[in-house]
Amino acid sequence: MVLALLGFCGPVLAEDVPGCPVCTAWNAPQAPFKIYGNTYYVGVHGLSSLLIDTGQGLVLIDGDLPQSPPQIEANIKTLGFKPDDIKLILNSHPHFDYAGGLRTLQQLTHAPVLASAWSAKVLRAGGVDRDDPQYGVPLPIDAVANVREVRDGEVARLGRMAFVAHDTPGHTPGGASWTWLSCEKTRCLRMVYADSLNPASAPGYLFSSHPEVLKDFEKSFAMVSALPCDVLLTPHTDISDLLGKWQRRAQGATPDPFIDSNACRAFAEKSRSDLAARLAREKSSLPNK
Ligand SMILES: [Zn+2]
Repeated sequence: MVLALLGFCGPVLAEDVPGCPVCTAWNAPQAPFKIYGNTYYVGVHGLSSLLIDTGQGLVLIDGDLPQSPPQIEANIKTLGFKPDDIKLILNSHPHFDYAGGLRTLQQLTHAPVLASAWSAKVLRAGGVDRDDPQYGVPLPIDAVANVREVRDGEVARLGRMAFVAHDTPGHTPGGASWTWLSCEKTRCLRMVYADSLNPASAPGYLFSSHPEVLKDFEKSFAMVSALPCDVLLTPHTDISDLLGKWQRRAQGATPDPFIDSNACRAFAEKSRSDLAARLAREKSSLPNK
């Protein structure tokens, strides 16, 4: 709730994660829950990790911080699933807040980790890539084994389910969003796990000096805006108000707050306007946020 509103500008808490004061709030415990059909939330409070039960094995999306896997594992077990049954791990982008826990989760499950070509390179090497606009700022990740590359539009299948990779670069050169269908009885919803689209950077980096990155962002805004989308989920829970929707639904809100066929379009528009605001600040030489 309140913690979900914290960002890097939030209050400074005791540092359980060296170099990341806000990570303590992000890594606060979170009860797991069903989002819709066979899609479950198993992440920590501020950072998403999703579990999908295909009926013939589990798919895990993102692994949060290096300190998160014990909570993710416990959440999976609380829901009655076995981490051993995870057959695929999907990644959005290789920053420490979504990929920091992947090394441990991959070792636990032995599942292959699927990511874009650029992200796969970073995951295999560990650290932070020099082409990352935030190079020098995010904490380095541990190298991950058994990483496979996926192309834009490529489909990863498990059981009867299909998980489609969509290139959504900008925030990093290799950001990927994932889509799949989750069903309850005869109603199937189009699930979208949309990668971060915010223009974060290291101090001194100017997006206005990188037209190729601006082109990437625009392509990603258009892509996310056009995705068939009933349920929007995001790596940071607060970006899609994931936990607020869960709480409102638990309080009896109808229709289901998670179901919003305009959510992807609104997210893309908000991201586009955030980038425009950032470019305006760069133009007026105001300090970067
Ligand atoms: Zn990031």
